[in-house]
Amino acid sequence: MRFLLTALAFLFSVSTHAQQKDEEVIKKIYNEALTNGKTYDWLHYMSKRIGARLSGSPEAAAAVEFTRQVMDTLGLDRVYLQEVMVPHWIRGNKEFATILNSKRIGSRQVNVCALGNSVGTGPAGVSGGIIEVKSFEELAKLGKKAVSGKIVFFNRPLDNTHFDTFEAYSGAVNQRGSGASEAAKYGAVGVVVRSMTTALDDAPHTGSLRYAADLPQLPAVAISTKDAELLSSLLKNEADLQFHFQTNCKMLPDVLSYNVVGEIKGSQFPEEVINVGGHLDSWDLGEGAHDDGAGCVQSIEVLRIMKTLGIKPKRTIRAVMFMNEENGLRGGTKYAQLAAKEGNKHIAAIESDRGGFTPREFSVDTTPEKLAKMAAWKPLFKPYGISDILAGGSGADIGPLKPLGTALMEYVPDPQRYFDVHHTAEDTFEKVNKRELELGAGAMTALVYLLSEYGL
Ligand SMILES: [Zn+2]
Repeated sequence: MRFLLTALAFLFSVSTHAQQKDEEVIKKIYNEALTNGKTYDWLHYMSKRIGARLSGSPEAAAAVEFTRQVMDTLGLDRVYLQEVMVPHWIRGNKEFATILNSKRIGSRQVNVCALGNSVGTGPAGVSGGIIEVKSFEELAKLGKKAVSGKIVFFNRPLDNTHFDTFEAYSGAVNQRGSGASEAAKYGAVGVVVRSMTTALDDAPHTGSLRYAADLPQLPAVAISTKDAELLSSLLKNEADLQFHFQTNCKMLPDVLSYNVVGEIKGSQFPEEVINVGGHLDSWDLGEGAHDDGAGCVQSIEVLRIMKTLGIKPKRTIRAVMFMNEENGLRGGTKYAQLAAKEGNKHIAAIESDRGGFTPREFSVDTTPEKLAKMAAWKPLFKPYGISDILAGGSGADIGPLKPLGTALMEYVPDPQRYFDVHHTAEDTFEKVNKRELELGAGAMTALVYLLSEYGL
């Protein structure tokens, strides 16, 4: 009995000691992030000096070079590029759209932008009657007779009763992703999609669509939510309203691009890899500051903080800047293909792709046992505003690692303002708060540190 008590006391003191040490290391990590952090300067360069970084563009190539050079200055064990062929879609001259000859307001120009990957209309544009639907089911019910020769207007708003705006987004985004091909089934000539935002604003929000292989490719635009409301209100009394839009976008041949990878080799288990990343490409309308310059600079900062504090991680840490998340996911797909071949074990991957806002949670897609192990770390994060480590989704780029048994995680900041700027001209450096960005980097570094100490 006495022996048992002594053993228990010993174990207790070991675990208390470990917890104290972890608390101290995490404090140092946050201190470094908040007093010497580099994320804000790096993000400034990416947003203001490089700017929008759509796959295949010269700016995307410049961002590859910039992040490679930054990581080269950090004294890492390895910095390298992974070749990946990416789609090269260009917007061309600015699009325009007009409500024609309304009995109530006459003709009026409305705010639109082409959806990514869309074909252009050609110089003549697309004109015709316009028919509003809220769902694919409603469209199917209308059928060919009602839809043929018309422009289809998908106008199901995001459901703002969700606390998590990403759930609202998920509930509406199939209109943008598949609406063009759904409308093509019934002989439509073009597609207008209500912007994917929780806000009522004048900015059209772009984003990618995917054409089904066996259907005609219809030109598609996003319309601002305010103009979607206007159009919808007119259609209630003028079912025969005419609409016109013209776009100049096109898809060019694929271009060679790269994922950028920086690595610190594990001191005890180098064959176990922990991956932390964001995506380097961005939409062409803004500066890609929140989406996803923030996630990229936070991921590089994880490595910088570890090197600066002299933390020698037990397991290998990799920061990955994925290319082409926005309109193809080629970088994430390529990374997972190479990971499957390299023989290392990818135990965990964390993505930051929900903007550089105030830290809230980590969501984890893994087994209940592994989640329970991570949930025990919650008290270590409490002083820094991370209130939960819970089961949930992860990022698009790391999704392809799932078949390798990798535990997938996402850094979850406050979601209330993200869709105000998402995929618009408003996604600029000025919208990012320095401390919020740095707190995110601190949180990600702390989680990577714990994963590297204790494995999964
Ligand atoms: Zn993103």
